[in-house]
Amino acid sequence: MKMTTAELRQAFLDFFASKQHQIVDSSSLVPANDPTLLFTNAGMNQFKDCFLGSDKRAYTRATSSQRCVRAGGKHNDLENVGYTARHHTFFEMLGNFSFGDYFKEEAITFAWELLTEVIKLPKEKLWVTVFTEDDEAADIWINKIGVDPERVSRIGAKDNFWSMGDTGPCGPCTEIFYDHGEHIWGGPPGTPEEDGDRYIEIWNLVFMQYNRHADGTMEPLPKPSVDTGMGLERIAAILQGVHSNYEIDIFQNLIADIAKLLKVEDLSAKSLRVIADHIRSCGFLIADGVMPSNEGRGYVLRRIIRRAIRHGNQLGATEVFFWKVYQSLIEQMAQAYPELKTQQTIVEKVLRLEEEQFLKTLDRGLAILNEALADLQGDTIPGELVFKLYDTYGFPVDLTNDVARERNIKIDEAGFEKEMAAQRQRAQQASNFGKDYNADVKSDQVTDFIGYENEVAESEIIEILVD
Ligand code: ATP
Ligand code: MG
Ligand code: MG
Ligand code: MG
Repeated sequence: MKMTTAELRQAFLDFFASKQHQIVDSSSLVPANDPTLLFTNAGMNQFKDCFLGSDKRAYTRATSSQRCVRAGGKHNDLENVGYTARHHTFFEMLGNFSFGDYFKEEAITFAWELLTEVIKLPKEKLWVTVFTEDDEAADIWINKIGVDPERVSRIGAKDNFWSMGDTGPCGPCTEIFYDHGEHIWGGPPGTPEEDGDRYIEIWNLVFMQYNRHADGTMEPLPKPSVDTGMGLERIAAILQGVHSNYEIDIFQNLIADIAKLLKVEDLSAKSLRVIADHIRSCGFLIADGVMPSNEGRGYVLRRIIRRAIRHGNQLGATEVFFWKVYQSLIEQMAQAYPELKTQQTIVEKVLRLEEEQFLKTLDRGLAILNEALADLQGDTIPGELVFKLYDTYGFPVDLTNDVARERNIKIDEAGFEKEMAAQRQRAQQASNFGKDYNADVKSDQVTDFIGYENEVAESEIIEILVD
């Protein structure tokens, strides 16, 4: 069955609406009232209090297509982008939820019906995992659904006990995998070859049973509940007959536009995939109100933007380009997410300012890095250099690491941390000085970031916002 990504999103929501689920809009990428979470990383986030029993809604069944970002925080896929067929920093998670309503049997039955009857995936391509101790789920799969026991494997807590973060609702889960065929390397879940991209995890059904506290204790939830998450792009890839998420309609269109903009002929270039991924996370994050900065959420955003710009440089871009890709994102996704369009002016301005600022130091930083790489003894970039690139040229560590990885070398993270600690100490001493002496003394103590005068000032951002 062939479906566009947009049709698939709708088919999922319609199916669960037909099973008495309330369709709920995606919430913002910035979690409301939840300082424990960097960005929204799953469909269940906006329902956290429903699972805990402290928020009562008019419905006990819900379904949504939730925008998610997994960069930084507990679920971090930034390093996977460009390397695996299935990871993005931004993706959409389709989900159905039961707040003390149905439990394991209905959740599994709904999932199987959707996959095999509505979107008609061949049963012989589906594999299943359950939590080691969950006999009940294994029994439902094998005896009620009729899945061959050879395709049901039991897996430990690392993969089959899902938690949103270090605290909050959690529980054992069962996952459904799709076999993309023997021409792709990899083994079924639970085998040593599972790291390959042949068997791709598509859907996670979590049986929410506990609330984990900061001290690690697990308190049973008032009522066992269900939280499921299926990656829209992964299921779209299957229905569009392609292996990689980056080959689905939305990505192919984004990639074609970026290639045209940068005059790149080879559409399979890794950097095109990275930029296509990054414009989605950066565009949606800014549209949701996150601004680039030097800490917290804003620094994660800044890191992703700078990474995208470095990949543009890699493809030969000589001037600002990233903000121009946003128009293409609007064309691909504003129908489902109209806020992309209403926030267009702000997003493009913020991206352009951020890029203009980084371009001032990027070339010099890269020249220094390349020189050092040419002379490098061994396979590790020294911590002092990683620090200098960070401190003076505004290279986030993961960006330097990305360059290193392309060349099969490592960075000395411990050495970098040591430099950071030393800098913190210097800054501390400087501010102690500052208490007693005039500011001249202080300015001698801190290292120079040559991009400082180019930083997008807060006032400038405020100006953009009121524009
Ligand atoms: P994986 O093992 O492939 O990294 P996961 O186990 O971390 O996935 P879950 O936390 O179980 O993923 O999330 C539920 C579903 O969301 C996954 O089954 C997958 O379909 C989708 N998903 C998770 N992370 C990503 C991502 N970075 N990009 C695209 N889809 C994702
Ligand atoms: Mg993961
Ligand atoms: Mg997994
Ligand atoms: Mg999973």
